[in-house]
Amino acid sequence: MSPQPRPSPRPPRTTRGDCSGELPDVPLVDAPTEALVAALLCRMGEDLTREGLRHTPERVARSLEFLTSGYRQDLNGVVNGAVFAEPYSEMVLVKDIEVYSLCEHHLLPFYGRAHVAYIPDGRIIGLSKLPRLVDVFARRLQVQERLTTEIAEAVDEVLAPAGVGIIIEAVHLCMMMRGVQQQNSRTVTSSMRGVFLRDQRTRDEFLSLVRDSRP
Ligand SMILES: [Zn+2]
Repeated sequence: MSPQPRPSPRPPRTTRGDCSGELPDVPLVDAPTEALVAALLCRMGEDLTREGLRHTPERVARSLEFLTSGYRQDLNGVVNGAVFAEPYSEMVLVKDIEVYSLCEHHLLPFYGRAHVAYIPDGRIIGLSKLPRLVDVFARRLQVQERLTTEIAEAVDEVLAPAGVGIIIEAVHLCMMMRGVQQQNSRTVTSSMRGVFLRDQRTRDEFLSLVRDSRP
């Protein structure tokens, strides 16, 4: 038997204004996001007719659609053939790729920078594809650890390189705004594969390139 979910504390059923309307009687998967957001606003005691909130359910629905658009993208579509034969065999590093994602535990943002490196084995990828590849996995509900691994696996899959190194540094609003209220802590995760895992010098080169301050 699955454990009973802990009931959330219910705010008093009073609202500051109009909160009429009902949720459609359909399975959860078919419930319109707008209706669910409206229900959430009601539960907060809000007035759905107040000017600032009038279109909030639609806006939140559109925003969530975008923020989770990675679920509807596939790797090959994003790379779109931008893999080229090239004998270059030194490290390729794209630093400071902006990352914006949503933590799956609280649906609050975490954001920061990703550093994506690989050592080619006969193939390179169009540089602009690496940030797009990061977005495919960032625009989902995530934990930073899995995001890091998924990006490494994707680079591995697309390029079959000699090695991959990924570092993500991020701050989590769920830690900053609530819970432990840590405003200055950053979380750093890494995933190393192939020669980045086996060869200390490669790993050191990657880490020192990442550490170098920006111009
Ligand atoms: Zn969280």
